[in-house]
Order: sequence, then C-alpha cells, then structure tokens
Amino acid sequence: MIKVEHLSKTFGELTVLKDISTEIKKGEVVSIIGPSGTGKSTFLRCLNLLEEPTNGSIHIDGVNVLENRADIPKLRQRMNMVFQSFNLFSHLSVLENLTLGPIKLRAMNPKEAASRSMELLRLVGLAEKANNYPDELSGGQKQRVAIARCLAMEPEIILFDEPTSALDPTMVSEVLSVIRRLAREGMTMAIVTHEMDFARDVSSRVFYMDEGGIYEEGPPQQIFENPLRPRTKAFIHRIRSYTTRVQSPDYDLYGINAEVEGFCEKQMFPASLRQNILLFVEELLTLYRPHLTAAQLDLTVAFSEKSDRLQLVCETQPALPNPLENEDGDLGAMILRNMSERVTYLRDAGKSTLELTLRPPTDQ
Ligand code: ADP
Ligand code: MG
Repeated sequence: MIKVEHLSKTFGELTVLKDISTEIKKGEVVSIIGPSGTGKSTFLRCLNLLEEPTNGSIHIDGVNVLENRADIPKLRQRMNMVFQSFNLFSHLSVLENLTLGPIKLRAMNPKEAASRSMELLRLVGLAEKANNYPDELSGGQKQRVAIARCLAMEPEIILFDEPTSALDPTMVSEVLSVIRRLAREGMTMAIVTHEMDFARDVSSRVFYMDEGGIYEEGPPQQIFENPLRPRTKAFIHRIRSYTTRVQSPDYDLYGINAEVEGFCEKQMFPASLRQNILLFVEELLTLYRPHLTAAQLDLTVAFSEKSDRLQLVCETQPALPNPLENEDGDLGAMILRNMSERVTYLRDAGKSTLELTLRPPTDQ
C-alpha cells in the first residue's frame, strides 16, 4: 500500500532520516518506537508530506506522491493523521469538527455528513457530546473526537503521532481502546507510541527507530522479547527497568516511591504487584541504610521476560554483607525472604550484588 524508497530528510545541517526503505501493507498495524529525537514524527510527517522529503520516493498504491503535487489534499485524506495535541477547532462544536472536512473537501451534503458523523461519534463513545465544544471535554474525549474526525474522511490508513502523550495517565486507556478497536476492524495504521504494552499487543510489526532510520523491525515478540541489535536491546531494557542510585542514609524515600510507582504504572503492573514492589524497595533500603554512610547503592527494578518475574537488584560499592542473612530475626529481612522466590548474593573485592526474584502475588 505504501512503499518508501531511499527516503531522507535533512533540516539545514541536521540529517534526521537517512535512506529509509520500507513498505506498509494493507491491514497492517505498525508501531514506531524509539528514543525521542530519532525522527519518528518526521518520518510520519514525510509520509503525508507535512514535511518535504529531501530525497527518495513514496508510492501509494503504485503512484509516486512526490510527483503528483496537485493531489496532496487527496493524499492527506487517504492517509489521515492524528496528532498528540488533538488540533480540534475550538470555535466549532464536536459535530461540526467532524462534518467540516467531508462537507468542504469531499462535497458531501450536510445532512449526510451529520448522520455519518453521529455514527462515528457513537463508535468512539461520544455521541452525547455532539453539541458540546472541545473546551468542555477532557483530554481523552478530545482525542477520541480527533480520531472520529480523522475517520470521517474515510482514510485508508491512519498515522498516529503519540496519540496519548498529552493525556493524563487516567485517560490513556480510553484512547488506546478506540485504536485497538480500529485495529480489530482491519484499519491500516502506523502509530508512534511510548505505550509499549499497547504496541506489543496491537501491532503486526514494530519499527525501532534510531541512528536516522529504521534500526530494527520485526514482529512485536522479536522487538520486545528478543531484539537482535544492540541499540534495540539497550532501549528495551531501559524502558522495562527502573534504576536509582542511593548514596546516603538520608535518601528521599517518598521521591523514590513516586518514581517506582510511575514505573509500575507505565508497565501496567497490577495493583497487588505494585504494592509488593513498593514494600520490597522500602524494606531493602531500610536494611541497607546503616551502611550507606560509606557505601553507594544502585537499585534496579526490572521485569525479566525470561522468568516472567520481577527482579530487584542491589549493587553496592564497596561490597556489603548480604543484608538478608542477618540472624537477629530482623523482621524486614524475614519479609523480604518470604516474598522472594529466589535470592542470589554475589560478592567480590569492590562490590556486592544482591538479586531478588519476586514471588508472584497470589490472586485473591
Ligand atoms: P521524534 O519524533 O523521534 O522525537 P522528531 O522527528 O520530532 O523526533 O525530530 C527529529 C530531529 O529533527 C530532532 O533533532 C528535531 O529537533 C529535528 N527537527 C524536527 N522538526 C524540525 C524542523 N521543522 N526544523 C528543524 N529541525 C527539526
Ligand atoms: Mg515525535
């Protein structure tokens, strides 16, 4: 459906995309992930010519869109885009936001446009807001309107540029649900996203962008569980783990807790697991605390795909004794031992490593 060959884009001296060649087929859902600044937005914007590619060609159903400038408005209808910032017209009602395009650009009669738009609003769960104005809606509702407005143009492919990044965490899932539904219905989509669990279960293919191009692409299992190339590996590990360094007994427990909670939320860990992790981190830090006047501790919370378990790793410099092996019947140490499925402790000259594998919380 879309065939990109040798696409490159520079802004002045800055080369953002170099020599990208790829294809997206009808019915595919492609997630585009990667560190920020690697050209994900630029790539999408080049596809529907919101940015002018510096080089290369883009074919849609065999037609070279760079040679058919007159058709750009039509191209943008066929390949419509949903932005992070919604871009709704604030002076128009929700319904008018939807009908505007079909009436103006597709010469649809207003009655038909309105009835079709109402159907789309029903699809995204917002029919009752048809006569409201965008300012009266929550962020999640606005984004659902933006998706319905995009659908009103009957696109063949939808490009999403971080559709949930501007939303409160509580509103992310209502928008992702709508996109999931479109995926089920067979809509062709390219989605730039930081929501990794979503990307994993919605996509047929994942592009990892880095070094000016599609650094690695493959099915979600490959990219998320078994990436082949070094930068992909490093990225996936980084987003699936949380690390903090503690170097004094006066560490900021509340700050650390908040960060750990944020990490758990991003990973969509269930509440029971989240509670266990917080308890774990707090007890561990308490055990290490007396030593922290003279040692530094790197604490990592990471999900291990291999064992399907959560692991906590404490690395100290210099080496410290295993705090779980104190025999004074310390309650904290006992709790941690009970909650761990496996404990390994390694010590050498300059450092010690304690690795705890969490017992999965029992479902109640
Ligand atoms: P991503 O979406 O992956 O975070 P972007 O595509 O937004 O990355 O940006 C890639 C690089 O291109 C960044 O260094 C950004 O500053 C630069 N860039 C993007 N748009 C422009 C522009 N219109 N003019 C100059 N530089 C730009
Ligand atoms: Mg971007």
